Amino acid sequence: MIHSLKYFNQNKSLKYHLPDKTGHFGPYGGTYVPETLFSVLQELTQEYRKARTDPKFKSELNSLLCEYAGRPTPLYFASRLSSFLGNIKIYLKREDLLHTGAHKINNALGQILLARRMRKNRVIAETGAGQHGVATATVAARFGMECVIYMGATDMQRQALNVSRMRLLGAKVIPVTAGQATLKEAINEAMRDWVTNVRTTHYILGSALGAHPYPMIVRDFHRIIGIETLRQIKKREKRLPDFLVACVGGGSNAIGFFHPFLKFPSIQLIGVEAGGTKISPGFHAARFQGGKLGILHGTKTWLLANDDGQIQLTHSVSAGLDYAAIGPEHSFLRDLGKTHYDYVTDDEALEAFHLLSKLEGIIPALESAHAVAWIIKNAKNLPQNSLVIANLSGRGDKDVQQAAEILGF
Ligand SMILES: *Cc1c(COP(=O)(O)O)cnc(C)c1O
Repeated sequence: MIHSLKYFNQNKSLKYHLPDKTGHFGPYGGTYVPETLFSVLQELTQEYRKARTDPKFKSELNSLLCEYAGRPTPLYFASRLSSFLGNIKIYLKREDLLHTGAHKINNALGQILLARRMRKNRVIAETGAGQHGVATATVAARFGMECVIYMGATDMQRQALNVSRMRLLGAKVIPVTAGQATLKEAINEAMRDWVTNVRTTHYILGSALGAHPYPMIVRDFHRIIGIETLRQIKKREKRLPDFLVACVGGGSNAIGFFHPFLKFPSIQLIGVEAGGTKISPGFHAARFQGGKLGILHGTKTWLLANDDGQIQLTHSVSAGLDYAAIGPEHSFLRDLGKTHYDYVTDDEALEAFHLLSKLEGIIPALESAHAVAWIIKNAKNLPQNSLVIANLSGRGDKDVQQAAEILGF
């Protein structure tokens, strides 16, 4: 067989088998949904269990990841950025080079194959910046399936190009005008649609979020990022890295990147949240800075809410990080001390966006620029010759106009 199964293998040696039977990662996660959805989530869990050990499923997904999406993605040594900072060696995992421009296609491809196995002919999804909507519309076109995308009206204005891309791909984009008219409201609407149409419809959730089994499924479909990175860095440097850095919205690119490295306690895994303009309610989206335990969209996790438990407004210059809750597995890994979380501000992310473009000829997504900004900001405090890998989760074409307005170039 041309495509070995290495691109989608569960790591059997890994002791880390969570979530448990009830879909919890320690105290986090679970299935906090209406009854109608409970049975369809069970159906999805069972189908996924069967699929992940089915050689046909694995080889079909592997072929799509290679030939359609462009895996493996390169691990690139950022030599000019490294010299600029002076004391450390920086590599970039180039998920920005994937089809549709971000890591999201890994998960969209996996989930559309699950939808087909369950004989659902319609897929729906939520989208914030539009990247997940584009990935979903893309795989729906590829398999000739009906596709409906829910998107906040505010986001539709901010991300008009992605709205046109989705429509060109044949998807119906439905504006959501409730509340802040952004991602949270779009998820509410998608869940409402799903409750009504469970028989015919699969909901392709876009991050390591929501009710069980989504955080596990989405993580597993993105583990390929970390699996490739591990193989590539060993080949290139003949040693393990010291730091892995990834931005954390819901947490899918970070968990996929980190997960295969959890078994190496010497490696520091750092998730970077959106610090917005300041760490004060309504001005950021850093759940571990001033957040609390709560339930949102079916999962129990750290989130930003007021004392009455109402979800707070969030802000980030990067739409993909602008969400009030973090994936439950991140909350648990943080408790265990296996991962660490920090934040950078809008300004720091924009500066990194500019710097990476100038020094390396790579325009990163503003989301990914948060990871790069953390490295730039902290380089001086890292040990000499540290080997640092940033996950470049997506490309920045979608953000150029917004950045130009702010930075004035
Ligand atoms: C959606 C998105 C993110 C944030 O989502 P995660 O689930 O946290 O990965 C980050 N980077 C890019 C490029 C995105 O499109």
